[in-house]
Amino acid sequence: MKKKTQLIHGGIIGDEVTGAVSVPIYQVSTYKQDGPGRHRGFEYSRTGNPTRHALEELIKDMEEGKRGFAFGSGMAALTAVMMLFSKGDHIILTDDVYGGSFRVMTKVLNRFGLEVTFIDTSNLNNIQNEIKENTRALFLEFPTNPLLKITDIEGAAAIAKRNGLLTIVDNTFVTPYWQNPLTLGADIVLHSATKYIGGHSDVVAGLVAVNDEKLGEELHFIQNATGGILGPNDSWLIIRGIKTLGIRMEQHEESAKQIVPFLLEHSSVKKVYYPGIESHPNHEIAKKQSRGFGGVVSFDVGSAEKAEKVLSRVKYFTLAESLGAVESLISIPALMTHASIPPERRKELGITDGLIRISIGLEDTEDLIDDLTYALKE
Ligand SMILES: *Cc1c(COP(=O)(O)O)cnc(C)c1O
Repeated sequence: MKKKTQLIHGGIIGDEVTGAVSVPIYQVSTYKQDGPGRHRGFEYSRTGNPTRHALEELIKDMEEGKRGFAFGSGMAALTAVMMLFSKGDHIILTDDVYGGSFRVMTKVLNRFGLEVTFIDTSNLNNIQNEIKENTRALFLEFPTNPLLKITDIEGAAAIAKRNGLLTIVDNTFVTPYWQNPLTLGADIVLHSATKYIGGHSDVVAGLVAVNDEKLGEELHFIQNATGGILGPNDSWLIIRGIKTLGIRMEQHEESAKQIVPFLLEHSSVKKVYYPGIESHPNHEIAKKQSRGFGGVVSFDVGSAEKAEKVLSRVKYFTLAESLGAVESLISIPALMTHASIPPERRKELGITDGLIRISIGLEDTEDLIDDLTYALKE
């Protein structure tokens, strides 16, 4: 089965009892048992719900894994994954991870004794150097937000495996349509399904897939024990979003292929970050491990004043956090998504005040270029 077909025919489709073509929304908390402890696969909806189960089977298939899980948000998914570890365990993470991931690791999970180190994982040599006796996992995110650095999953997972670490990949930006980390050696892949997978700026959700039954059992135990599940209505919306993920990703890519050269040639743009261009330092790796580069592009206009001017002039790019929606979005990371990262850390990471991030939506490419042309005018 090819990718676009799988998005429509993968997992569990429709309803066997009624013939309904779409998975019904099972708005139910508990299930009648045939006898004490004898149920038909579902007993209580925190443990399992048929609509959520259909989505969990689908993400499992999309990521070519053994088990899938749906959570109430990307952060709930990440937190559940981190519950696999114990007090005193050490985890190595990509340095410019999503701001919320940095926050939960350094302000919440640290209280439970998880130790973390943030490094530039796009350079594999850095990984080996940070591995300590108590290191248990390597957490990778790329293209990183907003500078779009790429980590070589195969290389990083091989180092992790040699040292007995789990490799976890946040695959939100690339999506399972373009990239499948489990097939490249990762053990756990997670998503903020709020972004491309949902795709319509109307639901917050998180998904996880694992490539091992035992790990799947452990994660299901945590999901049921801690309870950060996705409800049936939102599960249904995510399934609906997934059906068009393929054609949406193809169109985001097509527009990026026109918008990126436009930005590269523009006199007001000092620098463009996009893994799809040859000048990107990790372009070859990106090309090797993913089938597409996504619709997120960052560019530097030199100053905060200029960046704010651009933002005030755009018409089709909506000023908002998030990414991966049908609507094109625009943001200044230093003031928005990365505001929770201390200024000195932002500087270290190269997130300047003139840096603008766009998430290219599904509007006509010509309109988007016209919009940027006007916004970037002197
Ligand atoms: C948005 C995002 C998250 C958090 O997901 P929520 O659904 O907002 O909780 C995690 N990682 C990445 C890369 C994201 O973009």
